[in-house]
Amino acid sequence: MDDLFTTIETPTAKYEQPLGLFINNEFRKARSGRTFQTINPTTEKPIVSVQEADEQDVDDAVKAAQEAFNGSWQKVTPSDRGRMLTKLADLFERDSDILAAIESLDNGKAFTMAKIDVANAAGCLRYYGGWADKVHGQTIDTNPESLTYTRHEPIGVCGQIIPWNFPIMMWSWKIGPAIAVGNVVVIKTAEQTPLSGLYAAKLIKEAGFPPGVVNVISGFGSIAGAAISSHMDIDKVAFTGSTLVGRMVLQAAAKSNLKKVTLELGGKSPNIVFDDADIDNAISWANFGIFFNHGQCCCAGSRILVQEGIHDKFVARFKERAAQNKLGNPFDSSTFQGPQVSQLQFDRIMEYIDHGKNEGATVAVGGERHGTEGYFIQPTVFTDVHQDMKIAQEEIFGPVVTVQKFKDEAEAISIGNSTRYGLAAAVHTKNVNTAIRVSNALRAGTVWINNYNLINYQAPFGGFKESGIGRELGSYALENYTQIKTVHYQLGDALFA
Ligand code: ADP
Repeated sequence: MDDLFTTIETPTAKYEQPLGLFINNEFRKARSGRTFQTINPTTEKPIVSVQEADEQDVDDAVKAAQEAFNGSWQKVTPSDRGRMLTKLADLFERDSDILAAIESLDNGKAFTMAKIDVANAAGCLRYYGGWADKVHGQTIDTNPESLTYTRHEPIGVCGQIIPWNFPIMMWSWKIGPAIAVGNVVVIKTAEQTPLSGLYAAKLIKEAGFPPGVVNVISGFGSIAGAAISSHMDIDKVAFTGSTLVGRMVLQAAAKSNLKKVTLELGGKSPNIVFDDADIDNAISWANFGIFFNHGQCCCAGSRILVQEGIHDKFVARFKERAAQNKLGNPFDSSTFQGPQVSQLQFDRIMEYIDHGKNEGATVAVGGERHGTEGYFIQPTVFTDVHQDMKIAQEEIFGPVVTVQKFKDEAEAISIGNSTRYGLAAAVHTKNVNTAIRVSNALRAGTVWINNYNLINYQAPFGGFKESGIGRELGSYALENYTQIKTVHYQLGDALFA
């Protein structure tokens, strides 16, 4: 292995892995010469070392982005931007086995699920490629002596900070809308999962983007992430991650140059099951709602609320269902749940499980480590849970769910909303009126009715309350990446001669 590329062999793909910082369409070393290891969570062993960006490298990436923004990128038509994004989507599809293998290796997610992530990432890039030449302003009739119109202009250099739970999807959700409307990007991947973003950087060059338009760096949050959020020449920052760090990003933006900020943060989403729900469906969706991606989803349905008439039956059947989820090697085609991403996450989750036990909740299923190697945790279901318990209030970000009982609609809404988060919620009922009334009353950016976790790149996603600011995906995301300029053109004589 040299310092900038190495060959990696996984059970499903052998490929060339870039390791450098991708700045100006080239992979290069970090100025400090520092590197860091990325760990395979299935084996707890290092995979490779990648170059580690610090403030100086962020600065280099910003300069490259600025140069592109003021130079070559200005000459590219919106349609050609769209063509590059759709070409990138094609390349994602061509290399989907490689990208999915990287996700399984670096993040630990099941390969079958990683393939879906890559398909979503490619679809998202293609979707925004389609938008590139369809964003335009208005002409506004103000007075016969003037021509007044608006232009939807790019914001400029966008800093993007992404998490480790859906590395390649988050990369695409961020880059797609930013690039579609003519911005340039410095994106930092999460230190736990740098590999897929670097592979995708290679495809950026192949797709024909001019140098400096998309810069991809690996590095730590407190160094490279902080350098992005406080940089004086970054015009906008988009962050996905914990609410704790989201607050720091917002503060850094306020203290530096008041860059525009969008945040997609944590959640403690209620998944509400009424007596009249189709219980088989509700159990399947509740299981998928919390255990998909090992519970490492900001919108995970981590609080199941069940009406008293079916509570006991639901719990008995849900326990059986949760215990059936197959844990194991991500590359095994029957695996549903792989390891948690890191030792730190594993420890945090196990600590929450201990809290639940000590607070007096009942462990109905799981509650222990699975196996002896890798960061595997048994799917865990807590019953006898009260609203004031830590496990009912705080985001656990793992395969741990609480089940609570409610009497009626009003109580379901009240418990559902009694959290500082507001990312997502779900309602299971056959009664359309109940479904609509309750979904209207829930303070959440997404409400699923008789399903869970369905996210499409055509529809917006984001949080109420402390779950975030702004919306990703759909046409709404384009608003985060454009600023409106109003132009008044004088047609007739001066009004104030
Ligand atoms: P988690 O606790 O789940 O790892 P974080 O919110 O810490 O989630 O991380 C999400 C992203 O935010 C990662 O890319 C991480 O490097 C970055 N990050 C962490 N701390 C900071 C910070 N102080 N400033 C900017 N970015 C940060």
